[in-house]
Amino acid sequence: MTTTTKTQIKPGKLLINGVWVEGKKHFDTINPATGEVLTQVADAGAAEVDQAVAAARKAFDDPKGPWRKMSASERGRLIWKLADLMEQHIEELAELETLDNGKPIFESRYVDMPMAIDVMRYFAGIATKIQGETVNALSSAFTYTIREPIGVVGAIVPWNFPLLLATWKLGPALACGNTVVYKPAEQTPLTALKLGELAIAAGFPAGVLNIVTGGPDTGSAIVRHKDIDKVAFTGSTSVGKEIMRSAADTLKRVTLELGGKSPNIVFADSDIDSAVKGAINGIFYGKGEVCNAGSRLFVETKVQDEFMGKLVERAKKLRPGDPMDPKTRLGAIVSEKQMKHVLSYIDAGKKEGAQLVTGGNRVNVNGDKGFFIEPTVFGSVNNDMTIAQEEIFGPVLATLTFDDIDEVAELANKNVYGLAAGIWTNDIKKAHALSRRLKAGTVWINTYGPMDAAMPFGGYKQSGFGRELGAHAIEHYTELKSVWLAL
Ligand code: NAD
Repeated sequence: MTTTTKTQIKPGKLLINGVWVEGKKHFDTINPATGEVLTQVADAGAAEVDQAVAAARKAFDDPKGPWRKMSASERGRLIWKLADLMEQHIEELAELETLDNGKPIFESRYVDMPMAIDVMRYFAGIATKIQGETVNALSSAFTYTIREPIGVVGAIVPWNFPLLLATWKLGPALACGNTVVYKPAEQTPLTALKLGELAIAAGFPAGVLNIVTGGPDTGSAIVRHKDIDKVAFTGSTSVGKEIMRSAADTLKRVTLELGGKSPNIVFADSDIDSAVKGAINGIFYGKGEVCNAGSRLFVETKVQDEFMGKLVERAKKLRPGDPMDPKTRLGAIVSEKQMKHVLSYIDAGKKEGAQLVTGGNRVNVNGDKGFFIEPTVFGSVNNDMTIAQEEIFGPVLATLTFDDIDEVAELANKNVYGLAAGIWTNDIKKAHALSRRLKAGTVWINTYGPMDAAMPFGGYKQSGFGRELGAHAIEHYTELKSVWLAL
């Protein structure tokens, strides 16, 4: 790549009890745009996870310690201060994210980081709005409820929106007064480490935020640990199931944000040009490595030819490029493993008889050894095919057709996932009627993919349970206690 960066990339240590600790083992983190090693990062083993949990436990359990003595307003201001520091370091955070993940710098700098900051500020404000209630049930007792923090939260995050998805957990966990052991994905640990530096600078007391880098074994040590009270996980459905099983031993609270295969539904009476743009962004934004990607596109048969013509023309113009170039809109697939995984789905689509309309290949950018795949569109897809049923997590769109609302409601719901859905129509009654029938945690009408810190996000069915973002998130980071006072 020709683009240079001023961002300094240091070897990664573990943040335990407010200090950086050298790891015993290390792993490489790779720039997927070049295939080159960026740096080595500590690989936390069970003993190191244990130290991090002990620090979080102590910070939480000590009633005279700085964290438990802090008022909600002080906690909120501390989180806000961290958000301010994130904003001051936004360029560096965005560059680290792009170098580690391969996503276009345009996305990191102007979408992910601003939203991550916004999420922290939203939850900074929530800190003072956590309330119980008085219950006038009996004349013989004064009865009320209070919401208390759960304790030590294990936050396990995937690689597709590394820092952004971390804030979805850290924001509410800290606002509610919990302490945290946070594990970023092994593919993308760099922004987590920078966040740790900023949290120290903001003045978080020792042990409140601990950061342990590592892979599945590190995550598993968190999930099994008896002194962790809750696990907040975002990742694949298969790992989510494993986490639920192993959290059962200690009856931890668990929230799971998992995979998706979201239907994006275009009616003939929609604004076709807007729907085409929405379909393109729905699948190629974030290289399709997006849990709510609109990866199953249903087009009403009447407009199929017109729609597909416009869609393919746009897809062909979208070329993968150097992620650090501000003009790039399609970056590198996060890892060689993920690239091979996506290419294997493209093969499966061809073998099952879907029509490859455009793309389908690995491409070279600047002659480097990066992991790039062309924007890929399949036509003539049947809803039972593998590429219509399984999450590919790459820039691969499966297009299907339908003739009426009943047919598309049934087809759209015929999938194990239920994360999100899109509807494109100018018939407002039809839009609302269909949105009620779709089994999805989020429905976008005449748009696809916007998010806001105040709008809950989460899945139906095997896309998980619990909601992140929005005011309801605090229900997943607090216990509700009933208090009775005999009168
Ligand atoms: P993954 O499940 O492989 O890994 C996610 C995280 O879990 C990583 O930090 C990983 O190290 C850790 N992990 C892996 N095995 C573990 C185990 N046995 N115990 C504990 N931790 C373990 O997922 P991924 O490949 O990093 O991310 C892609 C997946 O995440 C996709 O399925 C995507 O849909 C999903 N995702 C969902 C949402 C959402 O909000 N619903 C958002 C983004 C991504």
